[in-house]
Amino acid sequence: MDQIDCVVVGAGVVGLAVARALALQGREVMVLEAADAIGTGTSSRNSEVIHAGIYYPQGSLKATLCVEGKALLYDYCEARGVGYRRCGKLIVATSEAQVAQLQGIVVKAAANGVPDLVLLSAEQARAMEPNLACVAAVHSPSTGIVDSHALMLALQGDLENAGGMVVLNSPLRQAVCGADTITLIAEDGTELAARTVVNAAGLRAQALAQRFVGLDAAHVPPSYFAKGNYFALAGRSPFSRLIYPVPEAAGLGVHLTIDLGGQAKFGPDVEWVASPDDLVVNPARGDAFYAEVRKYWPGLPDGALLPGYAGIRPKLQAPGEPACDFLIQGPAMHGVPGLVNLFGVESPGLTSSLAIGQYVSRMLAST
Ligand SMILES: Cc1cc2nc3c(=O)[nH]c(=O)nc-3n(C[C@H](O)[C@H](O)[C@H](O)COP(=O)(O)OP(=O)(O)OC[C@H]3O[C@@H](n4cnc5c(N)ncnc54)[C@H](O)[C@@H]3O)c2cc1C
Repeated sequence: MDQIDCVVVGAGVVGLAVARALALQGREVMVLEAADAIGTGTSSRNSEVIHAGIYYPQGSLKATLCVEGKALLYDYCEARGVGYRRCGKLIVATSEAQVAQLQGIVVKAAANGVPDLVLLSAEQARAMEPNLACVAAVHSPSTGIVDSHALMLALQGDLENAGGMVVLNSPLRQAVCGADTITLIAEDGTELAARTVVNAAGLRAQALAQRFVGLDAAHVPPSYFAKGNYFALAGRSPFSRLIYPVPEAAGLGVHLTIDLGGQAKFGPDVEWVASPDDLVVNPARGDAFYAEVRKYWPGLPDGALLPGYAGIRPKLQAPGEPACDFLIQGPAMHGVPGLVNLFGVESPGLTSSLAIGQYVSRMLAST
C-alpha cells in the first residue's frame, strides 16, 4: 500500500488552503477530490464577498478566523494577482426599529477587531449611494469582493509548487483509523496509508466522517442544509457598494452583491432542504425578493430579477436553533491521532480560508 504524510479530502477553497498551508510547512500533501475539477462545490456557489468580520459572536472561530482571514486574503490577492476589490458595503436600516440594531452591529464589530464601521444618517448614505432608501446605515470600508476561482487556482498553484498534488475524480469511500496511520479507501478500491487526514468535504463532511472506522460516531454532528437562491439583476447595477439589510435569523438577508465584472445579484435567501444536491433555483422564489429589495431600492423595476444560481450552507443547527460556530475538530477533541474534521464551514468560510489553513496546519504541527 502507498504511504503519504498528509491527505486533504476535498478541493474546495478551504481544502486547498489547508493543503497549501501544510505543503508550505514542507509536508508531503495530496488532495483527493471527488469531482473532475477543483472548486465545483459550495466554493463556486457563494457571494464572493470578503467579509469584514462584523456579525459573529466575540471569540468565536467565525469572528477570529474571518478577521484574520480577511487581512491574509487581501495581502494574498495583491501578491498573487488574484482579482479583488475593496468596494465596501452599507448595512441599511429601513425602519426606525432597526436603527438600534445598527448601533449594536457597530459595537459588536469593534469587539471583534473591526473598528472601522461608521454609522451614517440617511442623507450621508444617499450621498454615497443615490438610489438607496434607508432610515440610517452603517458603512463597512473593509468589506470587498474576490474572484473565488482565481483564488482557488492560485492556492492550487502554491500547493503544486511546494510539491503537493490534487488528484481529481477520486471520491474517498471510507477510512480506517489506526494508532499512527489512517488507511483511506477510495470508491474504486484503491488504498492509501496517511499519517494525517483533513476532512474538508464541505456539505458531505459528516457523511464521510460517519464512514471513518475508529472515529466515535458521537463526535459527528448532524447535518442540515440551508439553500441560498440568487437572482441576477438585468441591466446595470444601481449601486457601487454591496448593500445589506440588517441580518436575519439564518442568513444575512436578501442583499445586493456585485461581482468583479459589475454584474449585480440579489440573495441568497434561506430555504431549508433535505439534500446537499438540491441546487435548482425555483423561479417562483423571486416573487418574495421584490418586496425585500424594494425596502432599500424602491426603484427595482418589475421583471428585472432573473433566476441565477443556488448554494447550500452546511449548517450544524436545525431550523430555528441558534447559529453554530465552525467546528474544527482535531485529535484533542475526538481522540483519533492525525485526523482533523472540518464541520459547518459556512460563511465566512471563503474569507476565512487562509486563516483556517494556518489554524489546521498549526493543529497538526506536532503529528
Ligand atoms: C449561499 C452561500 C453564500 C456564501 N457567501 C460567502 C461569502 O460571500 N463570503 C464568504 O466568506 N463565504 C461565503 N460562503 C461560505 C463559503 O462559500 C464556504 O465556507 C466555502 O466555500 C466552503 O469551502 P469548502 O472547501 O469547505 O467546501 P466545498 O467548496 O463544498 O468543497 C468540498 C469539496 O469536497 C469534495 N468532496 C466531498 N465528498 C468527497 C469525498 N468523499 N471524496 C473526495 N472529495 C469529496 C466536493 O466535491 C467538494 O469539491 C457562502 C456559502 C453559501 C452556501
